[in-house]
Amino acid sequence: MAYKITSKCISCKLCLSACPTGAIKIVDGLHWIDPNLCTNCDGTAYSVPQCAAGCPTCDGCIKERGDYWESWFATYNKLVTKLTKKEEYWDNWFNFYSQKFSEQIQKHQTSGIEA
Ligand code: SF4
Ligand code: SF4
Repeated sequence: MAYKITSKCISCKLCLSACPTGAIKIVDGLHWIDPNLCTNCDGTAYSVPQCAAGCPTCDGCIKERGDYWESWFATYNKLVTKLTKKEEYWDNWFNFYSQKFSEQIQKHQTSGIEA
C-alpha cells in the first residue's frame, strides 16, 4: 500500500524533495502521491518513509489502509514463497515426522511384547 497525503497537509513542500522516487506531485495546487511511483521507500537508502518522517504535521502523510483480504493474501504469498524456495523443507519435515512415527510404533510394539 502506498502512502497518501491527507487534508491535514499544510503544503510546506518538504516532502517533494524528500521523496527518493519522485512520487510526490502537486496536482491542482494540492500535494498528491502517485501510487504507481511510491514504493514505501522500500529498496532505497532509507529505512523509513521519507514523506511521513519529515512531515511537520501529525497525519498529513499516512499509509493508505489496505483491503483486508489484499493484505492477507500478500502475507500468505510471501510466506509460501519463502517455504517453496527451501526445496528440502518438506523432505526434511517428512523424514523427521516418519522417523518419529516409526519410533513410536516400535516403542508400542516392544512394550506389547514385554507385557
Ligand atoms: S513513502 Fe517514500 S516513495 Fe512513497 S511517497 Fe513517501 S517518500 Fe516517496
Ligand atoms: S511534508 Fe507534510 S505538510 Fe508538507 S507538503 Fe508534504 S504532506 Fe504536506
